[in-house]
Amino acid sequence: MADQREKSPVTLTPDQIAELQEELQRELARLERGMEQREDTKPVELDQTSVGRLSRIDALQNQQIAAGLRGREVARHGELLAALERIERGTYGRCERCGGTIPYGRLLVIPEARACAGCG
Ligand SMILES: [Zn+2]
Repeated sequence: MADQREKSPVTLTPDQIAELQEELQRELARLERGMEQREDTKPVELDQTSVGRLSRIDALQNQQIAAGLRGREVARHGELLAALERIERGTYGRCERCGGTIPYGRLLVIPEARACAGCG
């Protein structure tokens, strides 16, 4: 009787999980909108003689920044999908390293968190 608490691996309530699931879906939709908008912008032509050398460097740097941003977006997109999958499997909110519960407060800030503050 005394060890009843230890038998529940996840301490998040269904309401909290539903709220975090909504947050994940909102974040996913926001991210996808941003990614679509960027796909609409054409890559910069770098061999145009009308473009000055400095603007070519600018354009190159902008492309590198955009590529870096895109890489982070793709990575976050994958993390959000993985988190939603964990909700469906019932493993959401559990630390992947120590098996402990990730506190609700941490999940509110990073809903796709895979590890608790101590491990992550
Ligand atoms: Zn942990």
